[in-house]
Amino acid sequence: MSIIASNFKTNHTRKSTASFVKEVNDFLVSEEISNDVYIFPTSTSLDSFDTVSNFNIGAQNAYATQKGSFTGEIGTEQLEEFEIKTILIGHSERRHILGESQEEIAKKFSFYSNLGYKIIYCIGEPLEVKEQGIEQTLEYVYEQFVGIDTNYENLILAYEPVWAIGTGVTATNDDITSVHSAIKSKINKPLLYGGSVKVANVRDICALPGVDGALIGTASWILEDFKQIIKNTK
Ligand code: PGA
Repeated sequence: MSIIASNFKTNHTRKSTASFVKEVNDFLVSEEISNDVYIFPTSTSLDSFDTVSNFNIGAQNAYATQKGSFTGEIGTEQLEEFEIKTILIGHSERRHILGESQEEIAKKFSFYSNLGYKIIYCIGEPLEVKEQGIEQTLEYVYEQFVGIDTNYENLILAYEPVWAIGTGVTATNDDITSVHSAIKSKINKPLLYGGSVKVANVRDICALPGVDGALIGTASWILEDFKQIIKNTK
């Protein structure tokens, strides 16, 4: 049984999210699947989803605030309206495209961990670091734990090499196991792999030592693929 999380990123409308969520819930119930499943829809599609009984809805992002003057952001006042208590922090697109620094990420982590949110915390190296070898990769990844309380009880980690995200290039089993075993030897938390996970490779990846599940973007936006991914890892 694996942890399977879907990151919608900037995909799906409010309407299509609602029907996707209902379909996934019905599927989990009818197939009696007990995987730990998460869906992170866009902020505009966050809802309490009356149809959800068997998995978690989380926020892709929120600011470290209850409310206030942070144009374009949402805070816990908005999350609480929909009973959202799960958040993704440190995703590579927020680090590398939207420019979130480790300091800002750590601040966000401490704010949401103090409130007891379940956090999926992402780490991962860009291609130029990977090309320097495993030691540099681990050094880079460990820097992404600066300011993060890795003993936090409601924490799931996700190793997502930047070069594998949305590229179709999945990390090799050796790449995954070497990074996962190194992280696991230091931090005793569930650890997901993310980066071009799809129906065809999810079972093998989730069966690797030190891999507790997958965080999936592209392949999880298609309902039938997402259901098959869950089925392949139950
Ligand atoms: P991908 O994205 O599955 O499209 O590579 C993974 C992620 O960003 O979480």
